[in-house]
Amino acid sequence: MLYCGVCHSDCHVGLNDLHSTKYPFVGGHELLGKVVEVGAKVTKHKVGDHVGVGCIVDACLDCPTCKDGDENYCMKGLTGTYNGTRKYGRVAGNQENNTWGGYSGSHVVNEHFAIKIPEGLPLEKAAPILCAGITLYDPIKHWGGCEGKKMTIGIVGLGGLGTMGVKIARALGHDVVAISTSAKKEAMAKEKGATHFVVSTDPESVKKMEWTCDLILNTVSAKHDVNAYLPLLNKSGTIVQLGLVTETHTISQLPLVFHRKAIAGSCIGGIANTQECLDLCAKHNITPDCQMIEANQIDWAWEQLTGSGNADGIRYVIDIKKSLANESFVPK
Ligand code: NAP
Ligand code: ZN
Repeated sequence: MLYCGVCHSDCHVGLNDLHSTKYPFVGGHELLGKVVEVGAKVTKHKVGDHVGVGCIVDACLDCPTCKDGDENYCMKGLTGTYNGTRKYGRVAGNQENNTWGGYSGSHVVNEHFAIKIPEGLPLEKAAPILCAGITLYDPIKHWGGCEGKKMTIGIVGLGGLGTMGVKIARALGHDVVAISTSAKKEAMAKEKGATHFVVSTDPESVKKMEWTCDLILNTVSAKHDVNAYLPLLNKSGTIVQLGLVTETHTISQLPLVFHRKAIAGSCIGGIANTQECLDLCAKHNITPDCQMIEANQIDWAWEQLTGSGNADGIRYVIDIKKSLANESFVPK
């Protein structure tokens, strides 16, 4: 292991927000490392390659969904990189049949679930693409954003996921409406590629951009009202809910009926699309804005994510080699 990004999902699961956490818990599903050993039957990767692992370390690979390349929607259930259940025999795990993530010095993974890191991507910035990047790329592709047609794509929540969405949507040639609760994020959003900016808590600001978005990707990580964003959708537009928010929404179906609007969800992406996303990022020089931390700063990083909001739209990334070399860091 060289680097591991810190996703807000690590906090949700580590803090048992989804009421399904098995402890002891080890977070991290944006893993980046160098192959140090391969099994006898491995052909996809070799010793010395740089590879990444995202949110999935196993799936049945046999159902129609897996065969479509959507291992993330495996009909028999995927095995998550952390807090996952070993079911299909392709992952190492502890005695409680639980998977542990990338806040770790090493990781063992089946070759299918290891993604090649393309030449040219700076290693210290590539890790977050394995979750934050693919989670935004996959719905853009699914809803027609990779077909050469210019769209207007709204991105709600300018944290780790949202800012990657801004960059990827822009690189694909779309107009991007960055939508935030914080007026202070306008300059940052525009610097990352947003063409327009909406303060979601300001009705005037929302009104100016009504009927503009063909697609909205909503990365809000806490309880919120999805109705607030529906006026921004154009006719036939879709808002895709990405945050792991457990609170329910109350929705009037009339705005959906009268303008064929839709509310959908999306979960990361399959292995082939994850590779495609990394390759796209390498081609267009897209990297998340990262702040490197050491392992002993993880509590602080989680406090930033779960507190008042990630002020600068950056991803915290654990520098694992540096953490392990730091003599003051004594893992408990
Ligand atoms: P993050 O860096 O903390 O960003 C979340 C952003 O949401 C914040 O920067 C803030 O943006 C906005 N926000 C926070 N609280 C809000 C509230 N009460 N009302 C409105 N907006 C609020 O988190 P992340 O790592 O990007 O993850 C975002 C969410 O996606 C998390 O729930 C995570 O678990 C989930 N996730 C889902 C998938 C998937 O496959 N679907 C994959 C990875 C992560 P502004 O300050 O700009 O308003
Ligand atoms: Zn994640």
